[in-house]
Amino acid sequence: MSDPNAPQRDPDTGTPGGFSRRSLAAQAMGRIEPETRAVVMPLHVSTTFIRDPDNGYASGYCYARPDNATVREAESVLAMLEGAEAGALLFGSGMAAATAVFGALEPGDHVVAGTVMYWALKRWLREEAPRRGLTLTFVDTDDTEALRAAIEPGRTKLVWIETPGNPLWTVTDIAAAAEIAHAAGARLAVDSTAASPVHTRPLALGADIVMHSGTKILNGHSDVVAGVLAGAKADAFWERIRGIRAGSGGILGPFEAYLLMRSLRTLHLRAAAQSAGALRLAERLNGHPHVTHVLYPGLADDPGHAVARRQMRGGFGFMLSIRVAGGEAGAIATAARVRLWKRATSLGGVESLIEHRASVEGPGSPCPPDLLRLSTGIEDTDDLFGDLDQALRGAHGD
Ligand code: PLP
Repeated sequence: MSDPNAPQRDPDTGTPGGFSRRSLAAQAMGRIEPETRAVVMPLHVSTTFIRDPDNGYASGYCYARPDNATVREAESVLAMLEGAEAGALLFGSGMAAATAVFGALEPGDHVVAGTVMYWALKRWLREEAPRRGLTLTFVDTDDTEALRAAIEPGRTKLVWIETPGNPLWTVTDIAAAAEIAHAAGARLAVDSTAASPVHTRPLALGADIVMHSGTKILNGHSDVVAGVLAGAKADAFWERIRGIRAGSGGILGPFEAYLLMRSLRTLHLRAAAQSAGALRLAERLNGHPHVTHVLYPGLADDPGHAVARRQMRGGFGFMLSIRVAGGEAGAIATAARVRLWKRATSLGGVESLIEHRASVEGPGSPCPPDLLRLSTGIEDTDDLFGDLDQALRGAHGD
């Protein structure tokens, strides 16, 4: 019998050749380099390209900002993974990708964004967006009615959601948010970093733009900083974003694109293993004597579980948080005692990371002081649980 709490399966329709996204990613779309018949594309580093005698550039490559074949190769795989008709654009970081979307708005436009979202982007929105003439409303986007009420019809031009939302892993209903945004004439953009294209495809649920920090599970080896946007439609707004990237120069370097492309081939394996590990950890930590609350949408009693089951496929993601008995001191003392988990910021790598998040996010963050954020890697789950258990017990004097 199938597990009633399992997320949906990926229908994988409309892909090139009818192959699954997993198959296409594993083979980097099956491309063969024509000169040598190599199955791995070379790393293209040239910054400039020969002009045709008729003064054109029939190759489509003129200057490496923004023309680079290695970058385009990774973009084509990302576009396939997201089902993005307009294609994908790589940026020098997730922040560069996200701010390009806000940069494409006009002064006077109103933006609705989530209370629970990547803290540095929220800070940028608070500090920088008003200087560009944007007005902002932050709202709990996991509350569909609150989201609807935050819209200013005619003025709201962009709804920005992050799901699951960092670091509380709240789940926003993407299809409902798209319907609300579109009814008001606004676009919906989704930061899908914590879901990855393996577990959620926001464009298929009605979103207009999906954004990822490629620094996280897309690259997955903690050695590249990158950002991605994928678009549903190559409309004027998308072309403006493309122009902003080319004009402001927030491009990704070819070596980073090469490493990212290499990582995308194993994305499905890593995402499946890391999500399965996160679910096992969440289940084992739920009820631990020194853990007061486990925040993970894969748990049946999590407030986001029903929506997550509807819109996530093959797992609920690799991120979870725990609230530790003994408040901030209990949380920090626990993080201090881990031996296998790495005490570091970031997420999505093959090594598991633990972080006392409130001390990073500072005042104004919805993150409680007793919260530890856990990014699950690919280590043995028994080792990961055992290490956390000894740290929790040691911190509480057991
Ligand atoms: N979105 C989320 C959910 C993130 O966790 C991060 C980084 O931690 C970003 C965006 C920003 O990405 P980057 O660090 O690649 O600029």
